[in-house]
Amino acid sequence: MNPTAAKPNTAQTPDLDLVRAAFPALQTEVHGHQVAYFDNAATSQKPRAVLDRIDRYYCEENANVHRGVHTMSQLATEAYEGARERLASFLGASSSRQIIFTRGATEAINLLAASFGASFGAGDEIIVSAMEHHANIVPWQLLSERTGVKLRVVPVTDDGELDIEEFRILLNDRTRLVALVHVSNSLGTINPVRRIIADAHGLGIPVLLDGAQATPHAPVNLKELDVDFYCLSSHKMFGPTGVGVLYGKAELLESMPPWQGGGDMIEEVSFSGTTFNEIPHKFEAGTPNIAGAIGMAAAADYLESLGWSWIQQQELDLLEYATAQLSQIDGLRIIGTAPKKAAVISFLIGATHPYDVGSVLDRLGIAVRTGHHCTQPLMKHYGIPGTVRASFTFYNSRSEIDRLAEGLQRAAQMLA
Ligand code: PLP
Repeated sequence: MNPTAAKPNTAQTPDLDLVRAAFPALQTEVHGHQVAYFDNAATSQKPRAVLDRIDRYYCEENANVHRGVHTMSQLATEAYEGARERLASFLGASSSRQIIFTRGATEAINLLAASFGASFGAGDEIIVSAMEHHANIVPWQLLSERTGVKLRVVPVTDDGELDIEEFRILLNDRTRLVALVHVSNSLGTINPVRRIIADAHGLGIPVLLDGAQATPHAPVNLKELDVDFYCLSSHKMFGPTGVGVLYGKAELLESMPPWQGGGDMIEEVSFSGTTFNEIPHKFEAGTPNIAGAIGMAAAADYLESLGWSWIQQQELDLLEYATAQLSQIDGLRIIGTAPKKAAVISFLIGATHPYDVGSVLDRLGIAVRTGHHCTQPLMKHYGIPGTVRASFTFYNSRSEIDRLAEGLQRAAQMLA
């Protein structure tokens, strides 16, 4: 998440109206109002370019991959493996062999827990943090129940930053993995991942970063970051649902046992024993989400065509503007005020319940998320049941934020 690492924007500065027009769902009317969509951290809307690419795949290329000699199967295979190459370049991986297609970030972490975690046992430790999404807690707890490996939890400061001193204290020769979120979905905090990786690698400990909330907002270069494992979800970065990536260093992926068994992940099957395919196919049993992978690659193309510098500029402006507008509302308290934040604002207004605030906003056509955001331990840390969360992206506008601020004033009066 280093803005200076952004690829140069060779394209002209995009026009916001044209960008918005490329997202059909942004034209949707909700209770008589054009939707103001601020639930991008839960899932983002999809541009025409992604929808058209999926449509073209199903209309012109649909066939199963890898196993056919016929032309359409070869077209589908080329498009699917091309998507892997595209994701590798998007993420700065050195090889497409390091890109495993999964159902999303959740499945990527479950895969890692079941496979990489298979050799963990009693006496071993995994470091997670108090700001993790449940997707980066529960798979490790399930592993803990099976193997006896212990979870150690990095605390969070009141601003919503990782307590790095505590993290350093928790690192020790029993630590088998550090598994932390890159950008917090509930708070927006951008974690200091370079320092975290350097500290862990200093003791020879591998690191998994949950990048579900990072890849929609900034370029990542995984080779340069030197992270061991990384995961993402396509649907949060303007691609289709039901697909994502687990990235791993090749030598680690090669050393890991297969996860699910079935077609495609094998080299040879007999009743006296089965040998397995090479990475990444070893971890992709059965017919994959072909259209999903191709759509995700189209989303990567779309993001880079907009240019990261414009995207980051736009999101910074929205975050600053929304923080200023919302801070004027009586009794509004922002949860998560780390200096390095993605465009996410979680908040509470006085004693009002987040659900009630969200319902008032919905009647005004404003979509926000309410609740614990799949981070119950974090909510417990703050002693709250949940928050209202407005999560912005490049297609949001200042005028939509004005509507949000007015809606919140109204909700505050109605619910007082
Ligand atoms: N990790 C983080 C930080 C998230 O925000 C989410 C979803 O909100 C996930 C993991 C899980 O993603 P998915 O449900 O797409 O697997």
